[in-house]
Amino acid sequence: MLEQNIIALKQEIGQNVQLIVVSKYRSIEEIQRAYNTGHREFAENRVQALLERKEALPNDIQWHLIGHLQTNKVKYIAPFIQCIQSVDSLKLLKEINQQAMKNNRVIECLLQIYISHDETKFGLNREECIQLLESDAFKSLEYVKITGLMGMATFTEDQSLIRSEFESIKSLFDELKEKYFDNAFRNLSIGMSSDYKIAIECGSNMIRVGSSIFQ
Ligand SMILES: *Cc1c(COP(=O)(O)O)cnc(C)c1O
Repeated sequence: MLEQNIIALKQEIGQNVQLIVVSKYRSIEEIQRAYNTGHREFAENRVQALLERKEALPNDIQWHLIGHLQTNKVKYIAPFIQCIQSVDSLKLLKEINQQAMKNNRVIECLLQIYISHDETKFGLNREECIQLLESDAFKSLEYVKITGLMGMATFTEDQSLIRSEFESIKSLFDELKEKYFDNAFRNLSIGMSSDYKIAIECGSNMIRVGSSIFQ
């Protein structure tokens, strides 16, 4: 039962790791059941599905976007989105800033880092990330707040490869935090159903879990 899965998973990960329930592909009824356990943080990977679900579900859900975001779609989610975890370019960040300003709010963002060997995945590498953070254009953005990093490991059975990818993003996280940020840079969003245990061992404090909850 999904209710028991959520409660058991929260007990397992403890207070210091935040669970984001990935509700993509699930029915409104299933998401409502998850909500009824007291859970409030949910994530979708597509804007259209996110908008439909937001409309159909309670207003106090904190929605995260975890899928690739096109600049022309930012305006639809800017009024309400809690956190955009999939920021992978300065161009996108500028548009989020623009739309956040129009809505008179500051939008939390995570930079998505490319750590895997899967070519289909999105994200910045270390150099691109540093270039972004050092640019004058970035420094002038007042309506976005970078609160951490997000990454996805390679889809593989090879646990040591997954571990080495998570260790690489953790070390980048520590480096960036020291060089560019203060304590508001606090979220390391790594770990999904198949690899959250390894992620937590590598320093994750935000896991994004879908299939193992709703199985
Ligand atoms: C689907 C998805 C998840 C959750 O994956 P599960 O294997 O269902 O737990 C996490 N992060 C991202 C970016 C996803 O697209």
